[in-house]
Amino acid sequence: MNIEELKAQSLFNFGEENVNFAEHFDGTSYLGPISVDQVPTFNVSFEPGCRNHWHIHHAAEGGGQMLLVTAGRGWYQEWGGEARELHPGDVVNIPPNVKHWHGAAADTAFQHIAIEVPGTGTQTEWCEPVDPAEYDKLA
Ligand code: MN
Repeated sequence: MNIEELKAQSLFNFGEENVNFAEHFDGTSYLGPISVDQVPTFNVSFEPGCRNHWHIHHAAEGGGQMLLVTAGRGWYQEWGGEARELHPGDVVNIPPNVKHWHGAAADTAFQHIAIEVPGTGTQTEWCEPVDPAEYDKLA
């Protein structure tokens, strides 16, 4: 699936190219706010091969992030762990203060809804890119 096909089937607001976070991604992504009230919720779409850098959703209490996979095929990996392949309908519960990345598979676009779990002292720390050699090993 390419990004145009993914956009055409997007249930929620597809949004615009994610230029404000581009420095924290390899490849092109798109960000569509679903709700900025109550629980901040965003539609995130990735072109094939696009993934974000390693990052940490810090929080003192609560916090973390939930991903609801809506289209395509992608990956989620925690630091020191194996990458988990993601398909539509999958849910990822990302604890606070855990280093991780998420993004598309190399050969298809990918989309997830990102729910920013409310908490105190929440702040995202962006780290290094995913090692391209490690990413390229993913099937
Ligand atoms: Mn995250």
